[in-house]
Amino acid sequence: MHILTKVLSHTLSSDSGLGRACLAGLFVVSCLLPQAALASGSHSQVVELTQQLESLLKDTSEGNEVALSAIQRVVLSRSESLKRLMRESPADVAQFQLPAALRDRLPMSFSESVEAPFSQSGELEVVFRDEESGKAQLHYYLKTSHQRLEILLTDPRPGLRTGMQVHAVGTSLDNLLAISSGADLEVLAYGGTADGSASGSSGLTGAMGAQQVAVLMVNFTSQPEVPWTAQQVEEAVFFQANDFIRENAYGQTWLEGDVFGWFTLNVDPAGCPSSDIAVAGKQAASEAGIDLSTYTRIVFAFPDTGCSYSGEATVGGSPSYAWFDGTITNAGVVSHELGHNLGLYHAHSLDCGADVLNSSCTVFEYGDVLDRMGTATAGHYNAYQKSRLGWVGEFSSAELLSPTVSGTYTIESLSSQNAGAKALRFPRSVDPATGNTEWFYVEYRDGTGADGFLAGSRYEPTVSGGVVVHVGEDADPNSSGLLDMTPNSQKYDMDDFALAFGSSFTDSVSGITISVSQSAAGQALVQLDLGDGDSNVCQSATPSLQVLSASTSAAVTAGTAVDYRFAVTNEDGAACPGANISLVAEALADWDAVFAEPVLMLAPGERQEVILTVVSAASSTAGYYDINVKAQHESGTLSASQVTYVIEAPSQQSDVQAPTQPLSLAVNVGRRKADLSWQPSSDNVAVAGYRVWRNGMLIADTSTNSYSDFDYQKGMDYQYQVEAYDAAGNLSVPSEIVSTTDTSTTTSGGGSKGGGKGKK
Ligand SMILES: [Zn+2]
Repeated sequence: MHILTKVLSHTLSSDSGLGRACLAGLFVVSCLLPQAALASGSHSQVVELTQQLESLLKDTSEGNEVALSAIQRVVLSRSESLKRLMRESPADVAQFQLPAALRDRLPMSFSESVEAPFSQSGELEVVFRDEESGKAQLHYYLKTSHQRLEILLTDPRPGLRTGMQVHAVGTSLDNLLAISSGADLEVLAYGGTADGSASGSSGLTGAMGAQQVAVLMVNFTSQPEVPWTAQQVEEAVFFQANDFIRENAYGQTWLEGDVFGWFTLNVDPAGCPSSDIAVAGKQAASEAGIDLSTYTRIVFAFPDTGCSYSGEATVGGSPSYAWFDGTITNAGVVSHELGHNLGLYHAHSLDCGADVLNSSCTVFEYGDVLDRMGTATAGHYNAYQKSRLGWVGEFSSAELLSPTVSGTYTIESLSSQNAGAKALRFPRSVDPATGNTEWFYVEYRDGTGADGFLAGSRYEPTVSGGVVVHVGEDADPNSSGLLDMTPNSQKYDMDDFALAFGSSFTDSVSGITISVSQSAAGQALVQLDLGDGDSNVCQSATPSLQVLSASTSAAVTAGTAVDYRFAVTNEDGAACPGANISLVAEALADWDAVFAEPVLMLAPGERQEVILTVVSAASSTAGYYDINVKAQHESGTLSASQVTYVIEAPSQQSDVQAPTQPLSLAVNVGRRKADLSWQPSSDNVAVAGYRVWRNGMLIADTSTNSYSDFDYQKGMDYQYQVEAYDAAGNLSVPSEIVSTTDTSTTTSGGGSKGGGKGKK
């Protein structure tokens, strides 16, 4: 149980003087080393090696073996330096790209060791890696039709999630892709893959009800250990972690499923290659006759390989994936990673110096010591996280109060399973341009239920004697922040983060004052002064917009009309006149999204229900499509919400027919390129594209029936071949092979493919 040792060692080190930055629990951030500006040697190394390469290429005549091996040494060394640079400062890589003139002069055989400009679309995968060092690593991957590239960028835009279709522009080398800025990773659609599976399920969809979990116990040919029984895994996942999640969700979400294995995989476990483990694990399960398609959460559990993480998980995804390195029987780690799978990011804490909150706070990645998304030994996910999952809400059976007038409000303990409001939230600020709201969340934690870890902890005295305050934004799912309500106190500053009963806090931005007291055991009274005191002055407010029907539709065929029911409330103060509130729904261009009444005239406080009807284009592919909905007050303030329209995958048997073989492949060679063309293939549905192979290597993926190979070098013997594919992934019989030594006509031979097709 090395995880327990880890807990212990963290606790010891934090108590022994690493200072206040290191105070959280298991997943504590490494005392927040700033993402160091490693103004490293990599920059100058790349420049130097590029210069060496340039001078070597100057005096090289073809076939000079000595020169070739010198070039090879420099190219490989430069490739390693560039890969370091890609990781250290991806934004800088573009300016160090090998000039095209040099690249063209390099022998073909080196092309894989040299970076290339990249511009392609694919599916995004967002993965959290919870390092044992206490560092969190958020990784992004781009899956194209034939590659999985790790995306390196320093400023990803908020809200990226597994299943999104994106277009990426940058520099690629090996399986790395460096991107200059967040803007070069453009979101095309929130889901919509051909099989409808890995679509964009955020925390807002799919987090309610039964979660179908398949746990695959896998080990490795080189490490065939069997450290647990299926019963032990079942106990941790389907009893302990399930109890935790069901209590957190007030009974609205739970885990169901099965434990399978052991499967021994022929994968080298060094470094925990998650993608390889997933591929081999699914294959082994399939060979054992297990149908994984009925599960939405796939979990891989393997013996402790000694790799650097305790757990890794995709943020959202359907199915989602999680990996456990020797930690599957630790229910705390299991419910942390499953939290990611449901769509949650980490629960941070904010240290804003002498202030509770200002614009220059230090964010501690795992700093929320009360929330299991901050600390694997902690308790309930906080109220902001639960509101994202739909577990608490204004109209949910587990109520989240959203008061718009000053008053005194009672909240239950967050872990209470009784009726009664679970938490309170109110806006701190609303961005007038986007409608994005930053909220304060107030909750009371009394150490009951899954919050039992509080008993005897050093936070207990202050937490149980006050309320806990968080901030969180609608538009950034990674914005959960625990506030220290007594900043700059002595000793361990973050130990006393609660706002004590009998005290109050005034926020300088919103002017809101919160005063708290305790009425009875298990309850807290929160007195809110929202600055709306003078009832004779019109206090205009942002209208509220609530989805009353399920925000995610049932899966329907493309072209079906789906109704969503909303409630719109004019939140203006009583002294205001009635106001027009306009409703807008933003769907894809060829879809219809129409409100039964697009403009509502509402008196202050008046609430009206209205229906939005959405009809997708008949040609839309299967997937999850988010539709942004806005309610805008005539004064300009607006509220935003979102619903999801689900198009079901075409039935399984619908397309098993491959496109026809591409015929008459012709190759015309020039001095610096080879132009390929062929007769278009046909297909029962449609040809989606063609793959072009050269000497058994995949070199291009094109949607048209021609391609120009600019890597062609005159005089070399190249063998070209083309195959067609359709949207369902059916591959045609490959075309005949055409060799550049025989450029006049094509041969009529059959379609055997060049060797090494499986190589990447
Ligand atoms: Zn994590």
